[in-house]
Amino acid sequence: MTDPGKLLIATNNAGKLKEYASLLQSLPFELTNLAAERIIEEVEETGASMMENAVLKATVYARLSGLVTLADDSGLEVDALGGEPGTLSRRYAGERASDSERNSFLLMKLRDVPREKRTARFRAVIAIAAPEGRYETFEGICEGLIAFEPGGEGGFGYDPIFYLPELDRTMAELSFEEKNKVSHRARAARKARKALERMGREV
Ligand code: IMP
Repeated sequence: MTDPGKLLIATNNAGKLKEYASLLQSLPFELTNLAAERIIEEVEETGASMMENAVLKATVYARLSGLVTLADDSGLEVDALGGEPGTLSRRYAGERASDSERNSFLLMKLRDVPREKRTARFRAVIAIAAPEGRYETFEGICEGLIAFEPGGEGGFGYDPIFYLPELDRTMAELSFEEKNKVSHRARAARKARKALERMGREV
């Protein structure tokens, strides 16, 4: 088979990059990232939905790089907060807040909410774009509950406060491999892999 070239993973989030390196291994593409391609432009997430933001990032970075590009938008949706933080997940609690400050902020907002009303989900939308503008999208969802206190050291972001009832652990208490079986990003990436395998064969 001819070498279809590189697949640009268009994120600066180290946690996501590490997960994609594992989720997308042994595809007929060499994985690369924004830093390695010396791409410093930032694409503002101005879309009204995760789908719009993922497509915006993938199409802009594909055009800039000339490479097949994968971008995602993801976040946490808490039912008791009407679906917040959603597309605001990264900036919830302020632009400069740390992951642990964001988690404390969310726990504080839910301090009077009982267990049965703490339902939430992680959602990830992946967009894969070609340099000339064609794109496809893939969605993955992982259902759970917001815990009463943080637990675990793994993962990133809201993982310590996202509790998976079937596993009786938070996302941050799962091993890297376990998270990559059940997470929203893993579910979306499994669908994206099929499209990438097809694209690899077409080149
Ligand atoms: P994005 O870079 O705009 O997709 O921001 C997504 C934000 O949602 C991240 O900064 C995290 O706060 C949160 N998030 C997305 N995926 C995960 C995950 O797998 N675990 C924990 N938090 C996540």
